[in-house]
Formats: sequence, structure tokens, C-alpha cells
Amino acid sequence: MRKLIAGNWKMNGTSADLPELAQLASTHSGSSVDVVICGPATLLSRMADTGLKIGGEDCHPANSGAYTGDISAAMIADTGATYVITGHSERRTDHAEDDALIASKTEAGWNANLHVIICIGETEAQYRAGDTLDILRAQMDQSIPDAATAATTTIAYEPVWAIGTGLTPTPDEIAAVHAALREHLKTRFGSEGAQMRLLYGGSVKASNADDIFALPNVDGALVGGASLKATDFSPIITAL
Ligand code: 13P
Repeated sequence: MRKLIAGNWKMNGTSADLPELAQLASTHSGSSVDVVICGPATLLSRMADTGLKIGGEDCHPANSGAYTGDISAAMIADTGATYVITGHSERRTDHAEDDALIASKTEAGWNANLHVIICIGETEAQYRAGDTLDILRAQMDQSIPDAATAATTTIAYEPVWAIGTGLTPTPDEIAAVHAALREHLKTRFGSEGAQMRLLYGGSVKASNADDIFALPNVDGALVGGASLKATDFSPIITAL
């Protein structure tokens, strides 16, 4: 699998940001890694026109129906997007999403031919209690559907306490977690499924990207704040 650097714009981005995105697309058009920007639904089709790989930030588990304000995976695919994020901690927390819902959203993404980035991560209290690996294994068991393959699915490890805080686990901690996630994938999905890409996310920036990308079992990153400006995001892409 090619490595993957994915930006998550969250609730940011208007048409004023499109020229800069087009610039980013042309700068990295020959990149040896996959570069994806997951953006707000309102912009996806115009983002896709830049030639970058584009993704949604969430999808509804159903194809269509009476779900006011929601967006289906098929609608995301219809914009030209090819990726979608499920299970981001902001969805888990702000919208009370549980693992079962995240698994069904993931299946909806696959059914629309989207590559799904499933997010997992422990809270600060769970980290302090030493429960990180137990929490992550449980989230993987319940939010990754059985049919997951490396071709359809990427896992993003995002410690909740590292998101938007400027804090990160130490390189040793990230390496230990990613090694444990890889082992867990191997046990459940065998050696082929264990090739699913494992991204790190949480306060990734140009100044720490080199150290994080040098770690074994880190196949890229999911980047929030530092993906909003091409001048911040470009050096992170280059570091991978
Ligand atoms: P930050 O890079 O802003 O910490 O956000 C990480 C994130 O939540 C990406 O999904």
C-alpha cells in the first residue's frame, strides 16, 4: 500500500480556500504518497475539481431517506470524492456515535466505493489510567467490520488528548501503540488484512512529522489544523 497523508478540515473551508487547494494539488501531483483532503460537504465537488483526492468527514449509514441534514456515502461519492472518515472522536463525543454505528457507516462507505478511514483513540483519562491498548483493541473489534481489507480501509490512531492541543505521545509511545495495532490486525484479519494502513493523528505538524514518519508501523498521518494552509501542509506531505 502507498503511504497516505490525509487532511481533515473539520468545520472549516469556504470557496475562498479553493485556489490554495488547487495550488497544493499541482505542487504534489506527482507525489509518491496518497494525498487526500477530507473537507466539508458543501465544498466537496469543487474540491474534487482541483484533481486532489477528496474525502468526506462523516456519512450516514443509510443510502437515502428522511434524515434531515445528513449526507449519505453515495452523495459523497457523487461529488467525486473517493474517501470518507468514520468514527472521528469529535463525532463520537459531540454526536454520541458508538462503535456499532461507526461500523455501519463504514459499510455504507464501502458500498459507495469509498475508501474508509476509521478513527480510534483513547481519552486523556484512559491514557493516564494505562488503558490505551485495551480501549483501542475494543474500538477496533467493534468499529471495524469483518469485511475490512487493506484496499478498502485505513485505521487512524488519534489520541483524543492530542487533537488540537499541541500535545503528542512520545515517539516510543506511538511506536508501541502502532505495533500493538498491527499485531491485533494480524490476529483478526491475517497477514493480508494486517497491511491496512495505520495513520497517526493528533497535533501533527511540520516540526514533528519527520520523527513520527520515521517510526515503524506508521503509514502516514491524519492532520487537522496543519492541513488548512498549504504552507503548513506541504512540508508534512514532503516529510512522508
Ligand atoms: P489536529 O491535527 O488539529 O490536532 O487534529 C487532528 C485530527 O483530529 C485529525 O482528524
